[in-house]
Amino acid sequence: MSMFPNFRECQMPREGNMTEIIKASAGCGCGALRLDVTGVPVVQLVCHCSDCQKISGMPYVEAAFFQSDQCSVHGQADTITVKGGTGFDKTHYSCTSCKTPLYVTVAALNGAFAIAAKRLVPFKFEPQVHVWVSEKADGVTIPSGILQSPGAPPKEIIDTMVSSFWGTK
Ligand SMILES: [Zn+2]
Ligand SMILES: [Zn+2]
Repeated sequence: MSMFPNFRECQMPREGNMTEIIKASAGCGCGALRLDVTGVPVVQLVCHCSDCQKISGMPYVEAAFFQSDQCSVHGQADTITVKGGTGFDKTHYSCTSCKTPLYVTVAALNGAFAIAAKRLVPFKFEPQVHVWVSEKADGVTIPSGILQSPGAPPKEIIDTMVSSFWGTK
């Protein structure tokens, strides 16, 4: 048996998240807006906040967060900037033609990209936490055994995001 069985998986260690580097693309409905990503998701979460519901037209949003320098955008996007419940400005991007919401950027997290996980191919969405559960749409059930927060992500998730996105140790 190798002395380093997990060597390959540990190329880009991040706290509690030793996923292999993925290469994936997210596209809008008409193909005019595309986002390519090469990297490791820092955090994956489901957001139930009313802004996400309004902007996406869905009962909740599944998002995978990546460093901005791991993402490249092709095409034109409409933007809406709203102040998130955490107090951070979040800019939502959607296709100018078909209006599909594709990703959100967070300036306070060094421009981190939160990509709509269901649009990301290939990608296996593995959420760590459900946030803004207090604003959850009627009829939505959260699977048992997963971390939940009534509001903003719990401190340990925020800490992971801040240290990963700003590169502090
Ligand atoms: Zn489109
Ligand atoms: Zn939200």
